[in-house]
Amino acid sequence: MTELEAEGNDTEAAELKARLSQWSRPYWKPETLDEDGPLTASKFSGRPWLSPDEVWPICPNCEQPLQLFVQLNTQDLPSELQNNFGTGLIQLFYCTNTESSCEDDCDAYFPFSESVLARRVEPHADSVGDGVVPSVPDQHFPPKRITGWEQAGTDLPASDELRPLLKAAGLKLSEREDELLWEVTDSAAGDKIGGWPMWVQGVEYPECPDCGKTMQMVMQIDSEDHLPYMFGDVGCGHLTQCPTHKDQLAFGWACG
Ligand SMILES: [Zn+2]
Ligand SMILES: [Zn+2]
Repeated sequence: MTELEAEGNDTEAAELKARLSQWSRPYWKPETLDEDGPLTASKFSGRPWLSPDEVWPICPNCEQPLQLFVQLNTQDLPSELQNNFGTGLIQLFYCTNTESSCEDDCDAYFPFSESVLARRVEPHADSVGDGVVPSVPDQHFPPKRITGWEQAGTDLPASDELRPLLKAAGLKLSEREDELLWEVTDSAAGDKIGGWPMWVQGVEYPECPDCGKTMQMVMQIDSEDHLPYMFGDVGCGHLTQCPTHKDQLAFGWACG
């Protein structure tokens, strides 16, 4: 390709990107400190908020404590996402026990696996200070408190996900635009909220068990980003939620 052709390509790509701008979404990456923070803080690993009569969640398959992957305090989210996920805390626990290979036994890559606990809890003001302060089980990942969310860019959905959206909106692409589509559609890798999922193997939103609606991404959790954990062979995970039933949460991952 000559320099002139490459430039022409860039212009065409930029024009196409502008045409698709209605599907562009900002995404945010977590800013973290190597500390645990309060029980209700947003965090990776560390101590979750548990209700006063609750013990640390256990994997029903191996009966070992689940690893807290992430706790999101919905009050700490960027204002653009404030009303999306309901109130309270969203927690994701996952069995990382390799001795009993719960990940394989329980098909933990599929949503609604029994070795995964994805839920929303509403801490009571009166039980935050003097409620249970759980001790973190041995060998858990070091805690990382999420101190803020940095808007890191914008995503367009992957072309698999975008095509049906274009069709529904009656937007037809020229042959040339269709060729360029893979170049302009890009969803960021790494841990993030907002934006569009980076699908490793095609679009895989779960359906809400209550109403059948397509669940929406709450957070993308990628291999070895803020958590020292690898999903299969460098897979990428997604925590999703029903847009209507905020207590229907799921987590699934895929690798190439
Ligand atoms: Zn287990
Ligand atoms: Zn639902």
